[in-house]
Amino acid sequence: MSFEVRYSDLAGRIGKLVTPHGILETPAFIPVVHPVRQSISPRTLRKLGFDAVITNAYLALRHYGDEARKNGIHKIINSDCIVMTDSGGYQVLEYGQINVEPETIACFEIEIKSDIPVPLDKPTGFGLGHAKARRYVEDTLKNAKETLELVRTRDSIKNNVIGQESYRSVEPIWVGPIQGGEHTDLVKYSAETLDKMGFELMAIGSPVEVMERYEFSILSEMIVSAKSSVPTKPFHLFGAGHPITIPLVVALGCDTFDSASYILYAKEDRYMHANGTLKLQELSYFPCSCSVCSRFKTKELLQVDKEQRIIELGKHNLHVIKAEVSAVKQAIIDGRLWEYVLEKARAHPKLMEALYIFKDLQIVKDGTPKFKKKAIFLFEPLDQYRPEAERFRGMVADFKPFNTKQKLVLYPESDIHPFYTTLQYRQIRKKLPDAQVCTYNRFLGVIPAEISDIFPAAHNLSLKNHVLTSRVEDYPTFKISLEKFLFTNNFNEVIVVADEFIKQILKDPNIKALCTKILDFDINAISKL
Ligand SMILES: [Zn+2]
Repeated sequence: MSFEVRYSDLAGRIGKLVTPHGILETPAFIPVVHPVRQSISPRTLRKLGFDAVITNAYLALRHYGDEARKNGIHKIINSDCIVMTDSGGYQVLEYGQINVEPETIACFEIEIKSDIPVPLDKPTGFGLGHAKARRYVEDTLKNAKETLELVRTRDSIKNNVIGQESYRSVEPIWVGPIQGGEHTDLVKYSAETLDKMGFELMAIGSPVEVMERYEFSILSEMIVSAKSSVPTKPFHLFGAGHPITIPLVVALGCDTFDSASYILYAKEDRYMHANGTLKLQELSYFPCSCSVCSRFKTKELLQVDKEQRIIELGKHNLHVIKAEVSAVKQAIIDGRLWEYVLEKARAHPKLMEALYIFKDLQIVKDGTPKFKKKAIFLFEPLDQYRPEAERFRGMVADFKPFNTKQKLVLYPESDIHPFYTTLQYRQIRKKLPDAQVCTYNRFLGVIPAEISDIFPAAHNLSLKNHVLTSRVEDYPTFKISLEKFLFTNNFNEVIVVADEFIKQILKDPNIKALCTKILDFDINAISKL
């Protein structure tokens, strides 16, 4: 399997996944299509910009059987796009036990030439007790293992498939189905076991109910538990297809995600927009200029007969999803995924809550470039946790000047970056040539002048202090960073030119005890040093 990552930011990445039916650029939304009844055909979906679809192997087996075996799934759905096949596990969740063996489904998926087949899994859903969820996980792992063994050993099937058509140099990509629901220990165990088995593309299941309840924190924990175990492999999220969740799940490392929401919503006259969903009846104007929204006024679309209206609304919903995926991709290239995810999280308080999972997250640190072309924006306390800031504080914690210094001067950051180019810095140096001079910023912590040109110390734009909260409780990382820096360097003298923010920090008696001189930040401060 070939998966090439071209750009990354946070854990989000733009990559190329090579499949037997072409290259899929990720992140990608994969629309669900019914193998028998399609309101919007895969051909139309391709014209709308979707290079892959997912369909249900179990339903295809039941409805087409040998016809599908003979002609392949691409003929059945009349498209040469990339086809992922879900095993039918979701039907277990919907209708209880389904009457098919894992081996039957696996053979069928090989025979119909699925590009991205999924072994028969047993979705845990949401709300299952730990013991029962564990049994589901074990059942899924057993099926997955048997499927992989079957794929590896049944050369006869492979040879038959190859014999029927020109040789395919690219093999199908079998998916490792991660289950466990909200039980993150099971999710982790599931991901690690499938990884060891040798699956090349991982997929996490069961998030639909979690998302329907807007439990984005639980969804994020599920993704992180799985993703942290398999950070580099391509990663699919089953059942995610609403624009408000796309920035979050991509930023946590989901490369592909599928859903039928575009058409299911349309059936209920639900109109997706970038920040949520509205009933068609509630809309006076369309906040969109896709071909559907340009052609109809809201009242006119309501007059269109139901079947046609579903198709039109479905197309609009797909347009919104596509636009969201494209915006996320552009944010990855621009190095502005953090800003984008935060902006989009304002669509729902539970989305904003979920963002605290990004704190100190290794997969997010690893995916974020060390240097970016554009300055980072710092607006609110949550921004202290962005990986660039955490990385900078980590560097400062170990910082020691080339020549050991006895004296430290801490001076508030000015608008001019880097700090060593400012008039204030030159004045301080003139007055105290032997001192270690540092500036400070509530998001980044202490900034030694020597490294004040390193990203992002000189490459950030933050709100002016007077519009930011001075509550130190909102910036716990600052205090930790200051303490570590003072501990590493053990200065004899610590002179603080204190703005309103650091005055709050100095209320901590332990930190105050380390400071030998505290001056108000005013025009005469430097002369009093
Ligand atoms: Zn539209």
